[in-house]
Amino acid sequence: MNCPRCLTPLKPIRHELGGVAVEAMRCRKCTGHFLETADLRQVEQVVDVRLIDWRHLPGEETQARILFCPRCEGQKAMDKVVSDRDKRVVMDLCGSCQGVWLDYGELEAIQRKGILAALADILDFIRKA
Ligand SMILES: [Zn+2]
Ligand SMILES: [Zn+2]
Repeated sequence: MNCPRCLTPLKPIRHELGGVAVEAMRCRKCTGHFLETADLRQVEQVVDVRLIDWRHLPGEETQARILFCPRCEGQKAMDKVVSDRDKRVVMDLCGSCQGVWLDYGELEAIQRKGILAALADILDFIRKA
């Protein structure tokens, strides 16, 4: 699996998110992460929604670029999910395998328990799809 942003091979990594062990694929270069929606759901269930801190999000231009799902071998363009709460937050979701790409800063925000409001947006999006 290669990074959808910079094509660097992704490496598996284990994260503690709200006390839940989550397996993710990490890009060493841009430090983006590819996660399973199921894992995000688990995290959502155990962590309270807090204030969002998006200081380290990539710029608008970077976020607007279409990414191709690393799991679906570059064939599947990922959907953009914009948070209702903060329009600067754009996450990439694969409608095929339901993987989620989190850019640098986005996973960091989860670890501070702030991104969960945005994850709720992702999950709503999946339910409607
Ligand atoms: Zn990368
Ligand atoms: Zn996919």
